[in-house]
Amino acid sequence: MALLEIDAIHVFYDKIEALKGISLAVEQRQIVTLVGGNGAGKSTTLRAVSGLLHPRQGTIRFDGRDLAGLGAHDIAATGLVQVPEGRRIFGRLTVAENLEMGAFTRRDRHAVAEDRDRMMRLFPRLRERLKQVAGTLSGGEQQMLATARALMARPRLLLMDEPSMGLAPMLVEQVFETIRTINAQGVTILLVEQNAPAALGIADHGYVLESGRIVLSGAGRELLDDERVRRAYLG
Ligand code: ATP
Repeated sequence: MALLEIDAIHVFYDKIEALKGISLAVEQRQIVTLVGGNGAGKSTTLRAVSGLLHPRQGTIRFDGRDLAGLGAHDIAATGLVQVPEGRRIFGRLTVAENLEMGAFTRRDRHAVAEDRDRMMRLFPRLRERLKQVAGTLSGGEQQMLATARALMARPRLLLMDEPSMGLAPMLVEQVFETIRTINAQGVTILLVEQNAPAALGIADHGYVLESGRIVLSGAGRELLDDERVRRAYLG
């Protein structure tokens, strides 16, 4: 059984049908990516998984459990954690306080401290800035903090919405490298990206979205070599 199973969901914004029967699966320990152009439905898919939107039809199962009727908080409690979009960290809190917030539902303080150390190794830049107010970090550092904060919740599935958006090319490379490292440490990842080459390059499996439908899917490397994908996204 896949960790996440989305079966033929239809999601609407009022009368606009943004997802027209999307099905996909994320297996334990995989990196799965959803790629596609503007307005294809990538963010909408993540919003449906995290419970911010509810499909009008179809089902979403996490670890075998139907998520229908669960609110965003209940869903987060099952271990589905989204890295906030647009670096939505707590700007007035320090880096250390932001990390603490990520773990606020956890009672295992010893393990929390260990995870904090792990984040410092994963993001040495954050270690140097633990006492700094988060709002004064650079864009790349805020992205690191948003990711570290999400990881502090010990997610069973990490949802990432365009982590490379707005970053300088050098940082973009680093972001994808970090995603790979996080995955190698055992975290399953569903990644939404406009940067199709980079995302498909690290993904076990990829889905190409167009106008609310999946038009292609396959192993990440396979899609990267697919003529249709190359023409549409890789120039
Ligand atoms: P982008 O990378 O531009 O965010 P996307 O693939 O994530 O693109 P979505 O944001 O999921 O695409 O949008 C899918 C469709 O739903 C688009 O037609 C979009 O216009 C529409 N849509 C998205 N958000 C809303 C909203 N809040 N209200 C109404 N329509 C929306």
